[in-house]
Amino acid sequence: MRIVVTAGPTREPIDPVRFLSNRSSGKMGYAIAEAALEAGHVTTLITGPVALTPPVGARLVKIVTSDDLYAAVHEHAPAHDVLVMCAAVSDYKPLHSAAQKMEKQRGLFTLELTATRDILASLPKENRPCLVVGFAAETHDVETSAQRKLRTKNCDLIVANDVSRTDSGMESDDNEVTIFFRSGERKIIPRTSKKIIARALLKIISELHEKSLTKKT
Ligand code: C5P
Repeated sequence: MRIVVTAGPTREPIDPVRFLSNRSSGKMGYAIAEAALEAGHVTTLITGPVALTPPVGARLVKIVTSDDLYAAVHEHAPAHDVLVMCAAVSDYKPLHSAAQKMEKQRGLFTLELTATRDILASLPKENRPCLVVGFAAETHDVETSAQRKLRTKNCDLIVANDVSRTDSGMESDDNEVTIFFRSGERKIIPRTSKKIIARALLKIISELHEKSLTKKT
Protein backbone atom coordinates (compact mmCIF):
# COMPACT_ATOMS: atom_id res chain seq x y z
CA MET A 1 0.00 0.00 0.00
CA ARG A 2 1.20 3.55 -0.73
CA ILE A 3 0.08 5.91 2.00
CA VAL A 4 0.37 9.67 2.38
CA VAL A 5 -0.12 11.17 5.84
CA THR A 6 -0.43 14.87 6.67
CA ALA A 7 0.58 15.98 10.16
CA GLY A 8 0.96 18.97 12.42
CA PRO A 9 -0.39 22.50 12.26
CA THR A 10 -0.28 25.09 9.50
CA ARG A 11 1.00 28.63 10.05
CA GLU A 12 -0.79 31.54 8.42
CA PRO A 13 1.48 34.61 8.25
CA ILE A 14 0.35 37.98 9.63
CA ASP A 15 3.72 39.57 8.85
CA PRO A 16 7.30 38.19 8.55
CA VAL A 17 7.51 37.43 12.30
CA ARG A 18 3.93 36.66 13.33
CA PHE A 19 1.47 33.95 12.39
CA LEU A 20 -1.87 32.30 13.27
CA SER A 21 -1.63 28.63 14.18
CA ASN A 22 -3.00 26.00 16.56
CA ARG A 23 -1.85 23.56 19.26
CA SER A 24 -1.34 20.52 17.02
CA SER A 25 1.93 18.75 17.94
CA GLY A 26 1.97 16.39 14.95
CA LYS A 27 2.33 13.37 17.27
CA MET A 28 -0.73 11.52 15.93
CA GLY A 29 0.24 11.96 12.27
CA TYR A 30 3.88 11.00 12.90
CA ALA A 31 2.71 7.89 14.82
CA ILE A 32 0.54 6.92 11.81
CA ALA A 33 3.48 7.37 9.42
CA GLU A 34 5.68 5.25 11.75
CA ALA A 35 3.02 2.52 11.96
CA ALA A 36 2.69 2.53 8.17
CA LEU A 37 6.47 2.15 7.73
CA GLU A 38 6.56 -0.62 10.36
CA ALA A 39 3.90 -2.48 8.35
CA GLY A 40 6.06 -2.14 5.22
CA HIS A 41 4.00 0.47 3.35
CA VAL A 42 5.49 3.12 1.07
CA THR A 43 4.97 6.26 3.17
CA THR A 44 4.95 9.97 2.37
CA LEU A 45 4.69 12.37 5.31
CA ILE A 46 3.53 15.91 4.55
CA THR A 47 4.35 17.85 7.67
CA GLY A 48 3.69 21.26 9.13
CA PRO A 49 6.24 22.84 11.52
CA VAL A 50 6.61 20.47 14.50
CA ALA A 51 9.30 19.60 17.05
CA LEU A 52 9.48 15.89 16.16
CA THR A 53 12.11 13.72 14.47
CA PRO A 54 10.78 12.44 11.13
CA PRO A 55 10.46 8.65 10.91
CA VAL A 56 13.31 6.97 9.02
CA GLY A 57 12.21 5.74 5.62
CA ALA A 58 9.38 8.21 5.02
CA ARG A 59 9.47 10.54 2.08
CA LEU A 60 9.24 13.95 3.78
CA VAL A 61 7.42 16.96 2.33
CA LYS A 62 7.60 20.09 4.49
CA ILE A 63 4.86 22.71 4.36
CA VAL A 64 4.12 25.87 6.34
CA THR A 65 0.81 27.42 5.26
CA SER A 66 -2.58 25.91 4.43
CA ASP A 67 -1.97 26.94 0.82
CA ASP A 68 1.32 24.95 0.81
CA LEU A 69 -0.56 21.97 2.24
CA TYR A 70 -3.32 22.31 -0.37
CA ALA A 71 -0.71 22.23 -3.15
CA ALA A 72 1.27 19.34 -1.58
CA VAL A 73 -1.82 17.16 -1.08
CA HIS A 74 -3.00 17.78 -4.65
CA GLU A 75 0.49 16.98 -5.95
CA HIS A 76 1.16 13.81 -3.94
CA ALA A 77 -2.23 12.24 -3.12
CA PRO A 78 -3.02 10.88 -6.63
CA ALA A 79 0.07 8.62 -6.56
CA HIS A 80 -1.02 6.99 -3.29
CA ASP A 81 -3.66 4.41 -2.35
CA VAL A 82 -4.53 6.04 0.96
CA LEU A 83 -4.62 9.64 2.21
CA VAL A 84 -4.72 10.21 5.97
CA MET A 85 -5.46 13.89 6.60
CA CYS A 86 -4.30 14.23 10.19
CA ALA A 87 -2.99 17.81 9.84
CA ALA A 88 -4.77 20.52 11.81
CA VAL A 89 -5.37 22.95 8.98
CA SER A 90 -6.01 26.50 10.07
CA ASP A 91 -9.63 27.42 9.33
CA TYR A 92 -8.76 31.08 8.76
CA LYS A 93 -5.85 33.07 7.44
CA PRO A 94 -5.17 36.82 7.47
CA LEU A 95 -6.73 38.47 4.43
CA HIS A 96 -3.48 40.38 3.92
CA SER A 97 -0.03 39.39 5.10
CA ALA A 98 2.25 42.43 5.62
CA ALA A 99 5.60 42.35 3.80
CA GLN A 100 7.27 44.18 6.71
CA LYS A 101 6.90 43.74 10.45
CA MET A 102 3.80 45.61 11.58
CA GLU A 103 4.37 48.35 14.12
CA LYS A 104 2.77 47.91 17.54
CA GLN A 105 -0.40 49.97 17.86
CA ARG A 106 -2.04 51.41 20.94
CA GLY A 107 -5.40 49.98 21.99
CA LEU A 108 -7.61 47.80 19.86
CA PHE A 109 -6.13 46.07 16.83
CA THR A 110 -8.34 44.32 14.28
CA LEU A 111 -7.11 41.63 11.92
CA GLU A 112 -9.22 40.71 8.91
CA LEU A 113 -9.41 36.97 8.35
CA THR A 114 -10.64 34.89 5.47
CA ALA A 115 -11.52 31.18 5.43
CA THR A 116 -8.86 28.80 4.10
CA ARG A 117 -9.77 26.32 1.36
CA ASP A 118 -11.04 22.92 2.52
CA ILE A 119 -8.43 20.52 1.16
CA LEU A 120 -10.37 17.26 1.61
CA ALA A 121 -13.53 18.68 0.08
CA SER A 122 -11.49 20.00 -2.87
CA LEU A 123 -10.15 16.58 -3.91
CA PRO A 124 -11.53 15.55 -7.30
CA LYS A 125 -13.89 12.56 -7.48
CA GLU A 126 -11.58 10.94 -10.03
CA ASN A 127 -7.82 10.57 -9.68
CA ARG A 128 -7.78 10.48 -5.88
CA PRO A 129 -6.57 7.84 -3.41
CA CYS A 130 -9.03 4.97 -3.09
CA LEU A 131 -9.26 5.54 0.68
CA VAL A 132 -9.48 8.95 2.32
CA VAL A 133 -9.32 9.29 6.10
CA GLY A 134 -10.17 12.57 7.85
CA PHE A 135 -9.57 13.56 11.45
CA ALA A 136 -11.95 15.65 13.52
CA ALA A 137 -10.93 17.35 16.73
CA GLU A 138 -14.08 18.39 18.55
CA THR A 139 -14.97 19.88 21.91
CA HIS A 140 -18.71 19.08 21.63
CA ASP A 141 -21.26 17.22 19.46
CA VAL A 142 -18.51 14.83 18.32
CA GLU A 143 -20.91 12.35 16.72
CA THR A 144 -23.00 14.88 14.74
CA SER A 145 -19.93 16.71 13.43
CA ALA A 146 -18.15 13.48 12.48
CA GLN A 147 -21.17 12.21 10.51
CA ARG A 148 -21.45 15.55 8.70
CA LYS A 149 -17.72 15.61 7.86
CA LEU A 150 -17.88 12.04 6.47
CA ARG A 151 -20.40 13.27 3.91
CA THR A 152 -19.27 16.83 3.16
CA LYS A 153 -15.57 15.96 2.98
CA ASN A 154 -16.21 12.75 1.04
CA CYS A 155 -14.19 10.58 3.47
CA ASP A 156 -14.25 6.81 3.97
CA LEU A 157 -13.40 7.19 7.66
CA ILE A 158 -13.50 10.03 10.16
CA VAL A 159 -11.37 9.62 13.25
CA ALA A 160 -12.92 11.84 15.90
CA ASN A 161 -11.40 12.85 19.17
CA ASP A 162 -12.71 14.96 22.00
CA VAL A 163 -10.13 17.70 22.53
CA SER A 164 -11.98 19.21 25.49
CA ARG A 165 -10.15 16.66 27.70
CA THR A 166 -6.75 17.62 29.05
CA ASP A 167 -5.42 14.05 29.36
CA SER A 168 -5.71 13.14 25.69
CA GLY A 169 -5.84 14.72 22.25
CA MET A 170 -3.81 17.76 21.24
CA GLU A 171 -0.16 17.85 22.43
CA SER A 172 -0.63 14.72 24.58
CA ASP A 173 1.09 11.35 23.93
CA ASP A 174 -2.30 9.71 24.44
CA ASN A 175 -5.59 9.87 22.65
CA GLU A 176 -9.04 8.30 22.69
CA VAL A 177 -10.85 8.16 19.37
CA THR A 178 -14.07 7.04 17.76
CA ILE A 179 -13.75 5.91 14.16
CA PHE A 180 -16.84 6.55 12.04
CA PHE A 181 -17.35 4.43 8.91
CA ARG A 182 -19.49 5.27 5.86
CA SER A 183 -21.64 2.20 6.63
CA GLY A 184 -22.80 3.91 9.84
CA GLU A 185 -20.65 1.54 11.89
CA ARG A 186 -18.34 3.01 14.54
CA LYS A 187 -15.41 1.75 16.59
CA ILE A 188 -14.18 3.26 19.83
CA ILE A 189 -10.49 2.99 20.74
CA PRO A 190 -10.34 3.78 24.47
CA ARG A 191 -7.62 6.00 25.90
CA THR A 192 -4.18 4.68 25.01
CA SER A 193 -0.94 5.91 23.42
CA LYS A 194 -1.04 7.53 19.98
CA LYS A 195 1.39 4.81 18.81
CA ILE A 196 -1.12 2.06 19.68
CA ILE A 197 -4.01 4.03 18.15
CA ALA A 198 -1.93 4.48 14.98
CA ARG A 199 -1.33 0.72 14.68
CA ALA A 200 -5.04 -0.05 15.23
CA LEU A 201 -6.03 2.56 12.64
CA LEU A 202 -3.52 1.16 10.14
CA LYS A 203 -5.04 -2.31 10.58
CA ILE A 204 -8.52 -0.92 9.84
CA ILE A 205 -7.21 1.01 6.81
CA SER A 206 -5.43 -2.11 5.43
CA GLU A 207 -8.60 -4.19 5.79
CA LEU A 208 -10.72 -1.53 4.04
CA HIS A 209 -8.11 -1.22 1.30
CA GLU A 210 -8.10 -5.01 0.76
CA LYS A 211 -11.89 -4.97 0.55
CA SER A 212 -11.91 -2.13 -1.98
CA LEU A 213 -9.40 -4.05 -4.14
CA THR A 214 -11.52 -7.23 -4.05
CA LYS A 215 -14.59 -5.20 -5.05
CA LYS A 216 -12.74 -3.77 -8.06
CA THR A 217 -11.42 -7.14 -9.34
O1 C5P B 1 -11.10 21.30 10.79
P1 C5P B 1 -12.05 20.19 10.48
O2 C5P B 1 -12.71 19.61 11.68
O3 C5P B 1 -13.01 20.52 9.36
O4 C5P B 1 -11.10 19.02 9.94
C1 C5P B 1 -11.59 17.77 9.57
C2 C5P B 1 -10.71 17.17 8.51
O5 C5P B 1 -10.64 18.05 7.39
C3 C5P B 1 -9.26 16.93 8.93
O6 C5P B 1 -8.87 15.71 8.35
C4 C5P B 1 -8.50 18.10 8.33
O7 C5P B 1 -7.17 17.76 8.03
C5 C5P B 1 -9.30 18.38 7.07
N1 C5P B 1 -9.29 19.79 6.65
C6 C5P B 1 -8.97 20.10 5.33
N2 C5P B 1 -8.94 21.42 4.92
C7 C5P B 1 -9.25 22.42 5.78
C8 C5P B 1 -9.61 22.12 7.12
C9 C5P B 1 -9.60 20.78 7.52
O8 C5P B 1 -8.72 19.19 4.54
N3 C5P B 1 -9.19 23.68 5.36
